[in-house]
Amino acid sequence: MMRVGLGWDVHRLVSGRPFLLGGVALEHERGEWGHSDGDVLCHAVIDALLGAAGLGDIGERFPPHDPSFKDARSLSLLRSAFDMVDKSGWRLVNLDCVVVCEEPKLLPYRERIRASLAEALNVSPAEVSIKGKTAEGLGDVGAGAAVEALAICLLAKRTQDEAAGSGESP
Ligand code: MG
Repeated sequence: MMRVGLGWDVHRLVSGRPFLLGGVALEHERGEWGHSDGDVLCHAVIDALLGAAGLGDIGERFPPHDPSFKDARSLSLLRSAFDMVDKSGWRLVNLDCVVVCEEPKLLPYRERIRASLAEALNVSPAEVSIKGKTAEGLGDVGAGAAVEALAICLLAKRTQDEAAGSGESP
């Protein structure tokens, strides 16, 4: 059995914050505002994974009013979310993402972001795709005041053999 999941997120960009995508810090004069570290790509990927597995959403699993998630590393939240997905018997087939921002350019960081997400999701970087787009100057993203991310993933239910190999209880 296979299931698809979709995630989307947007964060305001403010000075004095790191600009994080998939756990990788990009050189930029502003970064994502947020209760956690604000990593917009990790948040979109978490929602795609939870959605595909039928496990709710990021706000439910990691509530923004919960002080324990203040300044939380979103890559760690992603690992926790994937752990829930894994324990439910799913493995990631592939992940495809779009990041929309005017600046900085993603290309110099793309392979590092793919490697970082792949490592957290227990797949090879070949299964993770990241595409950078601009908003052509339109709206808040186009004005450089925000960054947006979309993610879509495909999960496959592990076979009995795979489940036995992973130590999952029958
Ligand atoms: Mg978010």
